[in-house]
Amino acid sequence: MEFKRNQVVCDYHGEVVSKQEGERRLETLTGEPSYLFFFKGKGGKPLCIDAQKFPCDCHPDQETYGRRMNHSCSKNSVRPQRVSLKFLDGPRECVLFFALQDIAVSEELLWDYGVRRTSFQGEGWDLSW
Ligand SMILES: [Zn+2]
Repeated sequence: MEFKRNQVVCDYHGEVVSKQEGERRLETLTGEPSYLFFFKGKGGKPLCIDAQKFPCDCHPDQETYGRRMNHSCSKNSVRPQRVSLKFLDGPRECVLFFALQDIAVSEELLWDYGVRRTSFQGEGWDLSW
């Protein structure tokens, strides 16, 4: 995979639920890594993307790799950004990852959660727009 700077790399792919529902789901996890992404949606509404289910229902035979990108505080190559997208059934909140620089095929995709992963999971994360 190769990306140019500012290109959309992928979405953080999963079901968008409320923060409360995300926290409820987080509590049901037993030891497995969490793929719940807490963020603030339009108007500061606390939301969560649940990418726990893999493969997802909508793409059973596809690799959705937003959830698999690695965390790095020092050399992040992608950055998440909240966007509202208009789907046929109405607007939806999404998180897209943009390339911060040209990324070569061989390079690993890294992003900075902004906070330590433990608190990232529980408390959510203020994306700056
Ligand atoms: Zn899907």
